[in-house]
Amino acid sequence: MNNSRIKSTDLQARAYNLLPLGVNSNFRYWGDKITPYVDKAKGAYLWDVDGNRYIDYRMAFGPIILGHAFDEVNLKVHEEIDRAVLCAMTSELELELAELIIEMCPCVEMVRLACSGTEATMHALRVARAFTGREKIIKFEGMYHGFQDYTLFSTYSPVEAYGNINSPVPIASSSGIPKSLNELITTLPFNNLEILDKVLRRSGYDIAAIIAEPCFGNCAAIEPLPGFLEFIREKCTEYGIVFILDEVKTGFRIARGGAQEYYHLMPDIATYAKAMGNGFPIAAFGGRKNIMSIIGHGVAQGGTYNNNKPGVAAAVSTLKLINEKPILESIQYRGNNLMRGLANLFTEANIPVTMHGYPAMFSFTIGNEKVTDQRDWQGTERDYYLRLVEYTIENGVMPDHDPREPWFLCFSHSDADVDETLNVMADAVKRVKR
Ligand code: PMP
Repeated sequence: MNNSRIKSTDLQARAYNLLPLGVNSNFRYWGDKITPYVDKAKGAYLWDVDGNRYIDYRMAFGPIILGHAFDEVNLKVHEEIDRAVLCAMTSELELELAELIIEMCPCVEMVRLACSGTEATMHALRVARAFTGREKIIKFEGMYHGFQDYTLFSTYSPVEAYGNINSPVPIASSSGIPKSLNELITTLPFNNLEILDKVLRRSGYDIAAIIAEPCFGNCAAIEPLPGFLEFIREKCTEYGIVFILDEVKTGFRIARGGAQEYYHLMPDIATYAKAMGNGFPIAAFGGRKNIMSIIGHGVAQGGTYNNNKPGVAAAVSTLKLINEKPILESIQYRGNNLMRGLANLFTEANIPVTMHGYPAMFSFTIGNEKVTDQRDWQGTERDYYLRLVEYTIENGVMPDHDPREPWFLCFSHSDADVDETLNVMADAVKRVKR
C-alpha cells in the first residue's frame, strides 16, 4: 500500500500548538511525522485522515469488543440520550446494568459505576484501605492500573531501574507523583511466588491491597503461571488483605466473567471498564458485599458522570449481547486462527516466537523463550517486533505501535480479515530484516 501521511502530518503540525505532544493521551503519540490522525472507524476497520484503511487490532486499547460504531449499541444510546443525558439521579437502567454485571462477574455482589479504568482502580484502592484500616499496596512491575498516582510506579521504565529482583525498588513513572507515596507502594516481579511470600512474611499485616492484572494486559499479554493468582488469593485471605483484580482489559473480553471465570478465581474486588461499553465512557468496580457496603458509611465515593446515560446505555446493550449471544465464542474462533497462523509463520521462517495471552487479546515475543515478567520481556527482540508492525501498519494491518500493547480482536473481524492479516505479516517476515 505504502500509505500517504500528508494530512496526518499537517494535523500533527497544527496539533503541536494546541495539545501537549499534539495528542490527548501520551500513549497516542508515536513520533514526529508518524503519528496517525483518525477520520472514522466502523466494524473492524479504521480510516486515517489520509483515507488509508486499516484492519484495526488496537480496538481503542481494548474497549471495542463488538466492532467500531456498532449499530445495535449506537441505536440504544441514541434512544436513551433523547430522553436524558445526565440527571444526578439514579435510573432503572443503572439497576439493569448492575444486575447484568453481578450476574456475569463471579466476585461481584455489589457494584458502583465510574467513567474510566483509572477511576475504578482509584475507588477500589480507597475502599480496600478503608476496609482494612491499612495504607500499603502491593503491585507488580510492568502492570498498569491507570493514571492515578497510587499505582503509577514501575510501570514502563527500563527494568534496570527496578533494582535487584530480590529487593525491587518502586520507580515513579512520572514526575509530579508525590515522593511520600513511595512509602505506600511495594512493587514486585509478577509470577514469582518466593518473593511475594518473603515480602508478606515480613509485612503482610501492613498491606491493605494486592492489585494485579490477571495477565500483563500492558506488557504483551504475558499470562500468569499456573498457581500464581491462586497463591495471591490464598495469601490475601491469610493476611486479611483485599485482593483487587484489575479486569479493565480482560473483563467481558477473555470470557463473559473475565479472568475470574477463565481462571476460576474469586478476588475480593474487581475493576472494569473498556469492553464493558464498546467504546463509550463507562467503568465499574465491585466485589464482596461486606466490603462494598462500607461505601457511604464513612467512605466517600461518587462522581458527576458516573451514571452518564450514553455510557450506561452502551453497557447495557453491550453486556446483553455478550451475555446472550455467542459473541465471545466467535471472537475466540478467529483469534485462535490468527494466533496459530502467526505462530506458524514465524516457526516456518525459523524465528523463535512465543505466543502470549488469549484469542481475544494476545501478543507475541521473539527470541527469549522464557517470558514470565516484564524483566524477561525487556530481553526479547522488541526492536524487530516494532519494525514488523511498522511494516504491517504501512500495509493496512494495525496492531499498536508499542510492543507492550496486545492485539485486540472484536466480533466484527472476519475470516477474510484474519487471512489478509496473515498475508501481510508473511510479507513482513520476508522483507523486514531481523
Ligand atoms: N487498568 C488497566 C489494566 C488498564 O489496561 C487501563 C488502561 N489501559 C487502566 C486500568 C486505566 O483505564 P483508563 O484508561 O480507562 O483510565
